[in-house]
Amino acid sequence: MTDPLLTIAAALNWGQKQLTHSDSPALDVRVLLCFALEKPDSYLYTWPDRAIEPQQQAVFVDLVARRAQGEPVAHIVCQREFWSLPLMVNSSTLIPRPDTEVLVEQALMLASDHPMLRQAGVLDLGSGTGAIALALASEWPHVRVTGVDVKPEAVELAQCNSNNLKLGNAQFKQGSWFDPVAGQKFALIVSNPPYIDADDHHLTEGDVRFEPLSALVAKEKGLADLAFIATQATEYLLANAWLIMEHGFAQGEAVRNLLTQNGYCDVNTVKDYGGNDRITLGKWNP
Ligand code: GLN
Repeated sequence: MTDPLLTIAAALNWGQKQLTHSDSPALDVRVLLCFALEKPDSYLYTWPDRAIEPQQQAVFVDLVARRAQGEPVAHIVCQREFWSLPLMVNSSTLIPRPDTEVLVEQALMLASDHPMLRQAGVLDLGSGTGAIALALASEWPHVRVTGVDVKPEAVELAQCNSNNLKLGNAQFKQGSWFDPVAGQKFALIVSNPPYIDADDHHLTEGDVRFEPLSALVAKEKGLADLAFIATQATEYLLANAWLIMEHGFAQGEAVRNLLTQNGYCDVNTVKDYGGNDRITLGKWNP
């Protein structure tokens, strides 16, 4: 593609043809062209016949080549939207998934009425980019949301996202699971922990190949971290506070059992937008 007068429409058409291995070539190529042109998506719709400068064209060709090699679009443009919040992403942690928004919806529905929500706040374990914590902080501006992640790079990234979004009620701490919040009690605990079995073939496919295994894989068929959180959270939840965790599509029953065995009540599994079991929740009522 060397024609200096290539139009936007022609560039989109050419780009799509290069991305035969992507699940979403049309969307990918739009995001990459917007990034190369430093313009919003509406610009592409408004000016399909506008010619692209040779220099921007060269940038675009390079971005498409990276995507064709499998690199996730979110890593190429260093950004992904979650709960309508633009978040910076990098290879230190997971790229936020749309299905995780179901966890945010459940949290808002179940915990908004907790009488101690403002005083005690919310804990997000394994906060990664900060997606869940920041979504909740944006919806509950008067509630303190604490995110914890074991990776210093992820904590730094989440803190940057929090600063960019001016969500001063969200804070991020480095440490293993509950260690940084020892002795505290919360009105809600949420987590999207690693839950994939090390032998799962999905780990060798698509965008997941570019994400850190530490954020994806857990022992005991993916249940080890879910079990640890379910057991330990009882020490950190106020009465009538919810624990809400994301998990794999085949782990619903196992996670319900974990919660029930640990004494939670009103245990329930909620499906994601694809109709798969994805979120299980329980209320701590000692
Ligand atoms: N939902 C992600 C996936 O299937 C995994 C997220 C996680 O392990 N927490 O790729």
